[in-house]
Amino acid sequence: MTIPTKLFIDGAYRSPVAGRPTPLVNPATEAVFAEVDSATPADINAAVESAQKAWENGWRDMAPGKRTEILFNVARVLRENLEYLAQLEMQQIGKPIADARDEIGLGARVFEFYAGAVTKFYGQTIPVSRGGIDFTLRQSMGVVACIVPWNFPFPIACWKTAPALAAGNCVILKPASISPLTAIALGELAHKAGLPPGVLQVLPGSGSAMGEALVTHPLIRKVSFTGSTSVGQRIMQLASAGIKRVSLELGGKSPNIVFADSDWQRAADSSPMSVFANTGQDCCARSRMFVERSVFEPFLETFVAATRKLIVGDPASDQTQLGPLVSASQRASVEEYIAAARSAGTRFACGGSRPSGTGYYLEPTVLADVGSNDRCWREEIFGPVVCIVPFDDEAAMLREVNASPYGLSGSIWTNDIRRALRVARRVESGVISINSHSSVHVEAPFGGYKQSGIGRDLGMAAMEGYTELKNIYIADN
Ligand code: NAP
Ligand code: MG
Repeated sequence: MTIPTKLFIDGAYRSPVAGRPTPLVNPATEAVFAEVDSATPADINAAVESAQKAWENGWRDMAPGKRTEILFNVARVLRENLEYLAQLEMQQIGKPIADARDEIGLGARVFEFYAGAVTKFYGQTIPVSRGGIDFTLRQSMGVVACIVPWNFPFPIACWKTAPALAAGNCVILKPASISPLTAIALGELAHKAGLPPGVLQVLPGSGSAMGEALVTHPLIRKVSFTGSTSVGQRIMQLASAGIKRVSLELGGKSPNIVFADSDWQRAADSSPMSVFANTGQDCCARSRMFVERSVFEPFLETFVAATRKLIVGDPASDQTQLGPLVSASQRASVEEYIAAARSAGTRFACGGSRPSGTGYYLEPTVLADVGSNDRCWREEIFGPVVCIVPFDDEAAMLREVNASPYGLSGSIWTNDIRRALRVARRVESGVISINSHSSVHVEAPFGGYKQSGIGRDLGMAAMEGYTELKNIYIADN
């Protein structure tokens, strides 16, 4: 299997002008399996200038039908390379292979959606009071920087780049240092599918060094970022000098609310994967569970039984549901939370230890009766740890739900339609699901309230975020 290890600039693989490559570690084997180049400021300049040229000389004015055709072709080529991309994703972050295949397919669907969106996203005509004709245009911005994290490297890279390209921008994609491979491959495959040179370029490298140089480059018009809230704050600060547009998809601490009137056995059976999928490294993880007191103990028992059945192990096996954590340092950070819970005297309903053997594994861990000031309750752990507490009163429960600085996602389980809608409207989050754990739909907006972010990915909302709105007035007398 070819491992792409270079920068993808102006339609070709290139070596950086200087510097040493970064080793990649497979988190399931703890072995180095590749070394990837890092972009320097000189490479960033070359890439951004080539992107600007590609935008001015063709991409922004390309007939929409032609742009649609190319983006559909990208989706087709991604599907043809699904297994290759899934294997790369599995090796670099330890993602279970079945999930990796699903996520490559999701990336292809994203390109299909935005291929179609090119000709379905348009302005308005406005009856202005002085007469004449007034209309709006949605115009591309220029060169957009898309900076993505390591937990869903491929789908997030696709759901940033596809709408940006569909809207007529050129993109510089910066993957996380530990997960550059599927992003680099995306650059090359999209180019093979007909994307002109310079329209999508991929620059691996360290966020604190080249990431900042990219954000502050004067030709970058917008930064679309997914990652931690602290880096999001830094990017917003850096972007302020040039009044650059930003969209930020940040951390979460999403609630999972179970009322006694719900089909709570079904909720208990399905909820472990709402927090433990991707080994808990999911911004939408339902990591705070609120269960109505009358069903709390039987709910907990069913939840723990379902958790014990999860298959933790080799990501290469089709049956595996939970792979390792992404790195030794990510596991160490989760273990600090587990240690804090131990010293606070929290009830461990299951888990809390490392299984024996190689790989950065941790058992899925269920904490019950957690104090509302405990770190595990308040902070995003980004690992396989859930906190489950009982509640008595809907209003008090909602106050605690909304006490979090985050507001990304969440679930509500009830069979009372009035309660479902009342609570859904009150939860301060950008995404909420009722009797379900799904958060991401290609066609619907995705993003956060409060410190979970600004702007929206996916759906037609993403097209708004990658365009400027121009008003044109024509006198008719
Ligand atoms: P991160 O440390 O914030 O990194 C995200 C990306 O930003 C990486 O490509 C990183 O590069 C880069 N970066 C780091 N410092 C930078 C800087 N100063 N300037 C420019 N770029 C910089 O996040 P992570 O650890 O990869 O991912 C975990 C976080 O992402 C969690 O908080 C999670 O909730 C959040 N997340 C949110 C969503 C959402 O949609 N809301 C989705 C997924 C994940 P390096 O890898 O080189 O540091
Ligand atoms: Mg980081």
